[in-house]
Amino acid sequence: CLSQQQDFDFFYFVQQWPGSFCDSQKSCCYPTSGKPAADFGIHGLWPNYRDGTYPSNCDPSSPFDQSQISDLTSSLQKNWPTLACPSGDGIQFWTHEWEKHGTCSESSLKQHDYFETTLNLKQKSNLLDALTSAGIQADGNSYSLSSIKEAIQKGVGFTPFIQCNVDSSGNSQLYQVYLCVDTSGTNFIECPVFPHGKCGSQIEFPTF
Ligand code: 5GP
Ligand code: 5GP
Ligand code: 5GP
Repeated sequence: CLSQQQDFDFFYFVQQWPGSFCDSQKSCCYPTSGKPAADFGIHGLWPNYRDGTYPSNCDPSSPFDQSQISDLTSSLQKNWPTLACPSGDGIQFWTHEWEKHGTCSESSLKQHDYFETTLNLKQKSNLLDALTSAGIQADGNSYSLSSIKEAIQKGVGFTPFIQCNVDSSGNSQLYQVYLCVDTSGTNFIECPVFPHGKCGSQIEFPTF
């Protein structure tokens, strides 16, 4: 019935490797709180449709409101750091992610829950552990795309999508990891549809 209709089908939970955000053609700036840890950072939790399209900017009447997430600020600074220039405290990044993506899943998650849920997903996915356990380290070496995917599949239990970018000398490198999540934001699921984009068969995992 209408009241149970979802306005999206699943989430992409997207994490970025800071070394690859910084080691690309455009530069990066550390946040005002200082250089983030050498760990994956959250990019966003994005409502998506099964056909690959996605809604955006769904509710102009629900602007980002810092006062609703003041208890999460220190965790957001640590786990959802901004690397864009000029240096910021994160508010702009979180505002953009809430207004573009978060407002499209308000039927499931209000603002505080949206950010808290996303932070929980990062802990649950523990990407760096999954990769380290397979001997894959952010040491500037290259690893096969399939070994990276297998390591994450083994650690998280579900198939990731790897998005690459290129470093200043043109090498394909591990940029973002996409995992799919059910509409409640609680459970990882197999992706109903994967994003597009090319990686090399061997990709670099740069230091940070
Ligand atoms: P890019 O084109 O750089 O991959 O993505 C630009 C922005 O578009 C992303 O940061 C995100 O906000 C949005 N976007 C790109 N691909 C997807 C997608 O498959 N699903 C959703 N929900 N948003 C996306
Ligand atoms: P999306 O690509 O999610 O639509 O947009 C990302 C926006 O957030 C861009 O305007 C980008 O400049 C800004 N931004 C701020 N910090 C970061 C960051 O650390 N990573 C990425 N990918 N975008 C960031
Ligand atoms: P397969 O279906 O054999 O896994 O992959 C088919 C094609 O998609 C291959 O060219 C492979 O490199 C590419 N591919 C598979 N998984 C990923 C991924 O996670 N990210 C990207 N960018 N390409 C992938």
